[in-house]
Amino acid sequence: MSNILTAFGFDSRHCFIAGHWGPAASGETLAAENPSTGETMGEVARGGAADIDRAVESARGALKGAWGRMTATERGRVLTRIGQLVLEHTDRLAELEARDVGKPLTQARADAIALARYMEFYGGAADKVHGETIPFNDGYTVYTLREPHGVTGHIVPWNYPMQIIGRSVGAALAMGNAAVLKPAEEASLTALVFTEIARQAGLPEGALNTVPGLGEEAGAALSGHGGVNHVSFTGSVQVGSLIQAAAARNVVPVTLELGGKSPQVVFEDADIEKALPFLVRAGVQNAGQTCSASSRLLIQRGLYDRLLEKLAESYGALKVGPAISDLNVGPLISARQKEIVGGFLDLADRDGLQVAARGEIVSDAPAGGHYVAPTLLAGLAPDHKLAQEEIFGPVQVVLPFEDEDEAVAIANGTDYGLVAGVWSKDGDRQMRMARKLHCGQVFLNNYGAAGGAELPFGGVGKSGHGREKGFEALYGFSALKTVAAHHG
Ligand code: NAD
Repeated sequence: MSNILTAFGFDSRHCFIAGHWGPAASGETLAAENPSTGETMGEVARGGAADIDRAVESARGALKGAWGRMTATERGRVLTRIGQLVLEHTDRLAELEARDVGKPLTQARADAIALARYMEFYGGAADKVHGETIPFNDGYTVYTLREPHGVTGHIVPWNYPMQIIGRSVGAALAMGNAAVLKPAEEASLTALVFTEIARQAGLPEGALNTVPGLGEEAGAALSGHGGVNHVSFTGSVQVGSLIQAAAARNVVPVTLELGGKSPQVVFEDADIEKALPFLVRAGVQNAGQTCSASSRLLIQRGLYDRLLEKLAESYGALKVGPAISDLNVGPLISARQKEIVGGFLDLADRDGLQVAARGEIVSDAPAGGHYVAPTLLAGLAPDHKLAQEEIFGPVQVVLPFEDEDEAVAIANGTDYGLVAGVWSKDGDRQMRMARKLHCGQVFLNNYGAAGGAELPFGGVGKSGHGREKGFEALYGFSALKTVAAHHG
């Protein structure tokens, strides 16, 4: 049995419940793999239903205890302190995330800084959520209050643990909820360190409880728990629908942040030099394992050949290797994920798709790592499986279009609706496109807006519902109460 978090002063094989680290009730653990090498780095707890029961009870207790008695300003101060401590630990968190998730160090570092930023943003926002007064009939004064749901469950994926914990747990705590966090079995380590940092920053006992474990064990126990008042889930469509069904049995609200097949639409009048790095990076960042990855590049016909050539050049220069060497692209999270992506690439081969370009896996990449060369595919119809389904690997497809109408039809022609990018210098067209695209966020002449914590984020269609980030998350993590006073 090995603990890999000794440097942080606690045991990676433990859950954090009621202010204390301790083993899962079963005493069992799960292996933590380094996807860059395929080697086991250590172990994490295999939490289950009994641990989730204790965690929910602890959160319920916190609402009645020191945490529940804190003012919004005091909660904000604690979150701000957590953010400061996260910043102080940026390098260690980044290295841990790089080893656990397989993302290049620079990207892992950006995630750690984003986690600090979420704590800072929600720390500052905690005491700025106001109700309203509502003009009504004579003799009444009517106002609204925003109150915490109570116990919130947070089930997060492995691709951006720090970012997703920041935006979801940060907002829930700012509103005064008490949280139970279930990190993904593939990558739990930074969730554990974040929990310890929150403890050290003075977050009262029970306000945050962290139970690592398998989805079908700890995750299912949390999403179906009768003591949970709101479930925030980020992950696949398949599991998202299970979560919604489980929450429905308890009639509690859910936020679902699911997958995508997000397009970037490039018109002939676009600034190609500005667009190029965004077009490529949004497809290969975190080896394409990003919900908002831009996996479809729609290019207007008059620009198609010229831009495809430039894209191919950029792809040719991409280097893939161990996360710690900080090249452009790291490995996929697991052998299973590599197999799934491989299945899509085999289909591309069988259907005779054009491989417009491939990146290069460096020769000294460890044989046990889960590496896939970034691949740019062309020569497929918009309804081809590779242009419709989320691949979750470093694979982008290029689709030509004639005019604005066709661009909109192709862009909106999947089950998803997470993000879209539009590249054009025509202001009228930008406004029209922003209206017509069916998705949660549109980026005009950029892609991602540098992640801004202030910007609400979420999907439509199979990309989910509810919003996280920005003030919208605070509204989502609260219940509105209307008070109507009659005073004659
Ligand atoms: P996943 O759905 O397999 O797992 C996500 C989480 O759910 C994990 O913690 C897992 O343990 C848990 N889980 C699995 N089965 C469960 C069950 N039966 N009951 C309760 N919990 C269960 O997703 P993944 O493979 O980890 O993540 C990739 C997916 O997440 C992609 O589709 C990606 O697009 C999506 N994602 C979306 C966003 C967003 O903001 N929209 C962000 C990141 C990732």
